[in-house]
Amino acid sequence: MNVESLRADIVEIGRRMYARGYTASNDGNISVRISPDRLLMTPKSVCKGFMTPDMMCVTDLDGRKLQGDRDPSSEMLMHLEVYRQRPDVQAVVHAHPPTATGFAVAGIPLDRAVLAEVLTTLGSIPLAEYATPSTVELPEAVRKYIKAHDGMLLANHGALTVGGDLYSAYYKMETIEHFAKISLVARTLGRENLISREEVMRLQELRGTYGIKAPAPICADEPVEDATCQTVQAPEGDGARLIPDVIGPSRRAEQPGDEAEIRLTYRQLSALIEDAIRNLR
Ligand SMILES: [Zn+2]
Repeated sequence: MNVESLRADIVEIGRRMYARGYTASNDGNISVRISPDRLLMTPKSVCKGFMTPDMMCVTDLDGRKLQGDRDPSSEMLMHLEVYRQRPDVQAVVHAHPPTATGFAVAGIPLDRAVLAEVLTTLGSIPLAEYATPSTVELPEAVRKYIKAHDGMLLANHGALTVGGDLYSAYYKMETIEHFAKISLVARTLGRENLISREEVMRLQELRGTYGIKAPAPICADEPVEDATCQTVQAPEGDGARLIPDVIGPSRRAEQPGDEAEIRLTYRQLSALIEDAIRNLR
């Protein structure tokens, strides 16, 4: 493994994250495996937009610093936990992209079946419980979801992504922020059409066709306690691929009835009222 080029890749990804506003000041951190038991990691207290290759630290999987003038990232414990839980993971990226972090602050996971691209790559993006940054609480919160997910929101904090190499981990961070922006726009517009459960399963089969490595299958069902699969909110369909106006799982069973909503324009409503008054006379 060419460690020099990995140092340069970390510098480049740090620049991109800072340029895209995923981090402010000294936020965020990046690491990569350089051997089965050695990591290259961003240092503590530097802006990720202005790093140089010589700033990086080399540590072992217990977090002991083996090389570097600076101390490793304050979120090192979270990175170590990911590498311990996921031997397949080669790189970890953590940032605070504003829209995704907004969802994390609002306590809303990005787990609705709305974008085919996200379903085939990340599956669902769960929300790990709030934990004090840089303490052992954070790796504990991450542990619950990391075995089955390549990306997650961290409540009241930010987002975490992992991958088979540095760029794959970084691109997943881009996907999460992009997905969060689209979800926000759709929800602001007041309508979010969900992809049906049947279509979600078809998309899952595409993972195999395109050779996308996912850590766990999608389970378009109720959440499972130990998070061994990727829970996606996808309603049962009637053969149609998109199901309109489904807000959450609780509405799934509701049949149209007295509570069903009808929308009228102001003109239509005025006409109805005029009509009613005319009939009264
Ligand atoms: Zn952070």
